[in-house]
Parts: sequence; C-alpha cells; structure tokens
Amino acid sequence: MGLIVQKYGGSSVADAQSIKRVAKRIAEARRAGDDVVVVVSAMGDTTDELIDLANDITPLPPSREMDILLTAGERISMSLLAMAIANLGVDAQSFTGQQAGVITDDVHGRARILDVKATRIREVLDAGSVAIVAGFQGVTEHTNDVTTLGRGGSDTTAVALAAGLDADVCEIYTDVDGVFTADPRIVPTARKLDRITYEEMLDMAASGAKVLMLRCVEYARRTQVPIHVRSSFSGHTGTLVTDEPLDREGEGQMEQPIIAGVAHDRSEAKITLIGVADVPGSAARVFEVVAAAGVNIDMIVQNVSAAQTGLTDISFTLPAEDGKKATAALREAQETLGHAELQYDDAIGKVSLVGAGMKSHPGISAKLFGALRDAGINIEMISTSEIRVSVVTRADQLDDAVRAIHSAFGLDSADGEAVVYGGSGR
Ligand code: ADP
Ligand code: ASP
Ligand code: MG
Repeated sequence: MGLIVQKYGGSSVADAQSIKRVAKRIAEARRAGDDVVVVVSAMGDTTDELIDLANDITPLPPSREMDILLTAGERISMSLLAMAIANLGVDAQSFTGQQAGVITDDVHGRARILDVKATRIREVLDAGSVAIVAGFQGVTEHTNDVTTLGRGGSDTTAVALAAGLDADVCEIYTDVDGVFTADPRIVPTARKLDRITYEEMLDMAASGAKVLMLRCVEYARRTQVPIHVRSSFSGHTGTLVTDEPLDREGEGQMEQPIIAGVAHDRSEAKITLIGVADVPGSAARVFEVVAAAGVNIDMIVQNVSAAQTGLTDISFTLPAEDGKKATAALREAQETLGHAELQYDDAIGKVSLVGAGMKSHPGISAKLFGALRDAGINIEMISTSEIRVSVVTRADQLDDAVRAIHSAFGLDSADGEAVVYGGSGR
C-alpha cells in the first residue's frame, strides 16, 4: 500500500458532472488500497472571474484582500468534491491550505511555501479517509494572513504535500494527456512525451508551458518527487517528470532526444528606452529602478551606440501585468536615467525551443531562425541558455512561429491529433 497525491485542475472540476466523475476516480484509487491526498483547483475559470470582479471594483485591488477573495474558489471545489466522494461511500474531508498546514512567506499573490505541517492530513489518512486540500493557498506563519501562490499554484501545493508526506508519486490531472512537444491547442500534431527531465520541464515551464507551474517543477526537482502528468478525462498513461533513467526491460538506457519541445508565452511586454548614454553604470541605473519597483525582467537587448551620439537603446521584456508599475517607475526616474523616450509594447509573443541535447548539437539556432525566415516571421529579440533558444515575435505571428519551429525540428506526431478534453485555454 502506498501514498499518492492527486491534483485536479480547474477544467477537471468545471461543473457538478465533472466533480462526480473525478470523485469516482478518487474513490477507485482509495478502494485499490492506497492512501490518497487530493489537491483541487477552483472550478473552471472561477479564479479569472474573481479577478475580473475585483478589477470591476477597483483598478489596483489590495493584494491581501485579493488573496482572501481568490482562495474562496478552491474552498468551493474542495467541499463539493468531498461531498461527491462521500456519496460514493468513501470517507473524505476537505481542508483549506491553512488547515492543511501549508505555511508560506508573506508575499501576497505569489507566496512561497516555507513548510508543510501535515499532522492533520496524516491523522485523516490514518483514520482511512481521503484528504482533500484546497490548492494554491497557504497562511503566513506569524500574522495568520491568507496567501496565494501565484497562478497555477495548485500544482505547487500538490508537490509540496507529496514531498511533506513522502508520497510515492504526485499525479497532476489535467485536460490533456500529458506534457506534449508543444501546446496541443496550438499544434494539434504535437506528440505526447513519455518522460521529461526536471531540467527540461523547468525550461518549458519557465518559457510558458503552463501545463505545470514553474515553482512546482523547482520544488519537485529539489525534493525528487516524481510527477505524473495525465488526463482526468482518459485512462491513458501520461508523462513522467523525473531524472530516473528509463529502465524498461531490454531497452537499456536510451539516448535522450535532442529537443524536448516548443513553448510559447503571450504574457510578456517589451519596454524600450531610447537614447540612453552608453557609459558605465547606465544599465545598472535602469535596472535598479525596475528592481526597486518589484518587477522581474526576462530578456534584455542593448545595441551598440551610434559613434557620433554616444547614445544607445535598451530593450527588455517583463510580465505585462507589471507593465504599469515598471513604466511609472521609469518615467519618474527619467531625469536621472536620461533617456529621450520610453516605448511600451504588449503586442509581443515569445517562442522557445527546449532540449537538453542542444548542449552538444551545433546548428540548432540556425535551424530555428531558418524556420522563422521561411514562415516570414521577423525576430525582435533573442536569448539563449545551454538548453533553450527563445525568440520574441509579434503576438499575432506567435502561433505560426510555434508551428513552424515544431515541424522544422520534426516533432510532429505520426499517430494523429492530440486530444484536448476540456478547459477554455484561458
Ligand atoms: P489545469 O486547469 O488542469 O491546471 P492548465 O490550463 O493550467 O490546466 O494546463 C493545461 C493546459 O496547458 C493544456 O490545456 C494546454 O493548453 C496547456 N499547455 C501548454 N503547453 C503545453 C504542453 N507542452 N503540453 C501540454 N499542455 C500544454
Ligand atoms: N485556481 C488557481 C488558478 O487558476 C490555481 C490553480 O488552478 O492552480 O491559477
Ligand atoms: Mg494549471
């Protein structure tokens, strides 16, 4: 008998019917003899709807109140799911993040889990019940304030509980059959991966593949929790995220494929400062202002200065949701920074190619740029790491860019189209 943590995303519990369907799966797992802890997200697009509602009230909702509001979504789904399981004759009890002992720091809206004090959950398991835990939320240690972990945070709750309870596996149930070589909503011919390493999954998640939240992959890698991403709508085996080598009989250790997949991100914006003095300390001053505003940046491009003027342009990308904060801070500091003009552009997209095999294979970037050229897509910014190449394009060309790169690297599946079982893609 083992212990499994199962996480069900919003599209898996979107309505009463879906909740009953998921409850059946959970009851079956429990009846098969395993201890089962379930982490659940808010129903369907509830979180987005609550955010819209808050924005209708005020343009800048206080982050503490926002967290209390958003955690309500998971309270609804957790209690309904517990009722549905009990209805099938299996004991189940639901718990908020606070009740489940999820302790976080005090950064509202993107709190980090510091500890999981799972005593209460263990008692429930010892009594033979299923424990249902509200995802995406916790409580601060000293002030008892309710926090949320950032969008997609239920994935992190699940991995943290799996690590805290020393579970055998953390199953992430969603609306597609696993991790694919690209988002199946954009590339229907994307191929399901049987297995992906933590390192590659980290870069895929950091590059926008929201099938797993970035922090959950970081947490899983650190604690070596194996993740199984799979569909709650089918019985198919999904994708295993692990560093364990394949040990299927007869196969030995297979060489890793060069490319894991293509990820995309529509959530960023670009700021360009025109006419910055090309002297030591300029970049430091600009990014000190951005950092002081609490904004994380992603790519940076700085041109060589025009010889006559000694002035240059600096461009960088950042989460579009931080756009107002960053531009306000930079405008305020314009006199000190000395730039002539600030341009803000949120009609950009980022496409990234990820694969551990890149380290030892030349020509990957050239092939990627060639694919974009053939598709008539202009490249606005480029950044690379050892296992990733990322490119910024116009937002309305992003889907075409993803498809062009996906097929240029031969990632298309030969066995038909990927199934998207639910969700609005929001
Ligand atoms: P959940 O509500 O279950 O947490 P999410 O919407 O957060 O689901 O994540 C699942 C979605 O992630 C899929 O429906 C798919 O559109 C998207 N996605 C993006 N990139 C990938 C990828 N490489 N493989 C699978 N799904 C992906
Ligand atoms: N409900 C939260 C969100 O939509 C958390 C999650 O689904 O993982 O981001
Ligand atoms: Mg998610």
